[in-house]
Amino acid sequence: MKLKERLGAYGDVLTKESLKKHTTFKIGGNCRYFVYPKNELCLTQIMKIIQVEGLPYKVFGKGSNILCSDDDFPGIVICLDRYFTDFYFETDGTCVVQSGTSIILLAHEAMKRSFSGLEFASGIPGTVGGAVFMNAGAYKSDMSQIIQEVFVYRNGICEWINVQDLDFSYRHSVFQQHADWIVLGMRCQLIPGDQKEILDLMDSRRQRRMASQPLDRPCAGSMFRNPTQAQAWELIEKIGFRGKSIGGAKVSEKHANFIINDKNATAEDIMTLVTMIQKEVKEQFDIDLHTEVERFNWKK
Ligand SMILES: Cc1cc2nc3c(=O)[nH]c(=O)nc-3n(C[C@H](O)[C@H](O)[C@H](O)COP(=O)(O)OP(=O)(O)OC[C@H]3O[C@@H](n4cnc5c(N)ncnc54)[C@H](O)[C@@H]3O)c2cc1C
Repeated sequence: MKLKERLGAYGDVLTKESLKKHTTFKIGGNCRYFVYPKNELCLTQIMKIIQVEGLPYKVFGKGSNILCSDDDFPGIVICLDRYFTDFYFETDGTCVVQSGTSIILLAHEAMKRSFSGLEFASGIPGTVGGAVFMNAGAYKSDMSQIIQEVFVYRNGICEWINVQDLDFSYRHSVFQQHADWIVLGMRCQLIPGDQKEILDLMDSRRQRRMASQPLDRPCAGSMFRNPTQAQAWELIEKIGFRGKSIGGAKVSEKHANFIINDKNATAEDIMTLVTMIQKEVKEQFDIDLHTEVERFNWKK
């Protein structure tokens, strides 16, 4: 049987799919197959096929922290945001959720049940899996503060890993060292709160984001991690790069740590701008800026 038909037994398969459609940057070449597994059982079968065939693969959430190269990817992208979207709340605030669930949706579902703890995530446009992988956060909160356990597929087995073993720190988790592990879900602990207070906090933060971030433009959020010495946006501002363009890539006028795909930017345009910023910041302040956005399918 052909590879597409074998994969198709376990999920929805798109052929030669443009990764522009699956990243918030709207940049990237085509992948050979883009697959939405139907459930955990199907995912384990897809992984067996991938391993037997020796194919490269990558898990995508909503592609909101990925800069794909302009090249085609000869492997399989596995995306969990179509079928892995169930969530369950217990009355004490325990929340068990599948990894393809939108974290924004989850924050709203928690608010509807008067549970506090996810307000910080109500403007982060990714999945639970991507948020766990990145230890996503905002306003001095992050995923590590609410997670108890993560349900993982690794070495052919699905198992729970306790938070102590997840090596969380600023925008970091153990998953960044294990590209072959797949986050299937998490159990987190929220706390009962006042629904109006939770909603007001979410609203005020949404307004803050709308005022300070270019949310109407294709981008991937903060381009650089904040170094210990300063905020990345301040450094970029100080080197005079706010509003600077290279090809179709541009440093946002609204937020200097956001690079936007202004006019059909290529991945190369974005990386040229990134490299120029890193070089200037190093020369002027002797600070190394590291990207928060992950590069995928780059040769160099
Ligand atoms: C406008 C905007 C605002 C943003 N604001 C914030 C913010 O305030 N705070 C913040 O932290 N981030 C922010 N981000 C970045 C981004 O939304 C987060 O990093 C988010 O957690 C990424 O989730 P995702 O599902 O899109 O992951 P993707 O971008 O699809 O993937 C990111 C990484 O996670 C891996 N991954 C995804 N799912 C899984 C899984 N199930 N198992 C294993 N690995 C997986 C991928 O392989 C990849 O390495 C913002 C982005 C945008 C566009």
